[in-house]
Amino acid sequence: MTSKFWSETVRRTEPYVPGEQLDLPDLLKLNTNENPYPPSPAVLEAIQRELNRKLQLYPSPTVDGLRRKIGGYYKLDSRNVFVGNGSDEVLAFSFMAFFNSSETIRFPAVSYSFYPVYAKLFNIPYEEVSLNRDFTIQAECFFQSEGGVIFPNPNAPTGIYLELEAIRDILDSNPDQVVIIDEAYVDFAGESAASLVNMYDNLLVVQTMSKSRSLAGLRIGFALGSPDLIEALNRIKDSFNSYTLDRLAIAGAEAAILDSEYFRKTIEKIVRTREWTAEELKKRGFHVLPSSANFVFVSHYKHTAEQMYTKLKEQHILIRHFKKTGINNYLRITIGTDEQMQQLLNQLDKME
Ligand code: PMP
Repeated sequence: MTSKFWSETVRRTEPYVPGEQLDLPDLLKLNTNENPYPPSPAVLEAIQRELNRKLQLYPSPTVDGLRRKIGGYYKLDSRNVFVGNGSDEVLAFSFMAFFNSSETIRFPAVSYSFYPVYAKLFNIPYEEVSLNRDFTIQAECFFQSEGGVIFPNPNAPTGIYLELEAIRDILDSNPDQVVIIDEAYVDFAGESAASLVNMYDNLLVVQTMSKSRSLAGLRIGFALGSPDLIEALNRIKDSFNSYTLDRLAIAGAEAAILDSEYFRKTIEKIVRTREWTAEELKKRGFHVLPSSANFVFVSHYKHTAEQMYTKLKEQHILIRHFKKTGINNYLRITIGTDEQMQQLLNQLDKME
């Protein structure tokens, strides 16, 4: 559909479609990579304290306290930190801040499906780079890009992690372009490229508190980079909305980043459940890609992905099926609690 009132920008958009949200009391939601555990109790206390304070006043436009705490966690200066309303917003600002209409950017052909949406919205030409047959990223394919590079690490929806050495090679070969590493799932994997921020002025690391810190509902994302890159993001933000994080989100995010004990324990539980789930799925005839995230990407030797998706939905279990060439026989399953994964396995067993 279209309308005579729509701007050219609206006409060329192809909006992102978020994972379904069904309103069923017994729904098992394993389709948007949310954390099955609640946030740290310290987060809830901080939000409660803030609620009793100054909701009639605007929040801080510079969010210094949270930026300092995130900087402290990564041993960086607060001038290396930008915060935003979910990492989707940080990513959108980054496309505006670092990519141009005259230069082609690159991202993997199997990757986060929001990237082509931003590229179309901001009129940025892009090239989708094929992955290897085993779904790994080939670093050389991202060398000497014309307009910049962006990819998730671990990649989504494959869950496969790329070593920092390969990321360094990509950064070295793109000295005049920004390389954005979207680390939405890195806490479930291993090393963050945050350790490279002081070495590479062309590196922007984007992270979120939606997954490993159980705060999808609060909308907190952040970016780590050289002060020049952070200043560019601030210039975009302040040309758009000065207060992207509200008072409750700021208070909750500060408490979340400080509670590293709770964070570590939650991640340990999810990683343990992931490894167990992967083994159980393999026993049932699934091909499971090696995941470093809080989800697994799988296909079955007999049942098609579409069949399994539909059958599970009938049983009120939601998983993600992307109808996209190359991955349409795969399913992305978020890792929940042990009990939730057992429930999924029980339903799969009934399909044999
Ligand atoms: N990057 C990737 C790769 C994701 O999968 C997601 C979650 N859909 C995001 C960024 C955005 O997360 P949020 O906006 O909740 O921070």
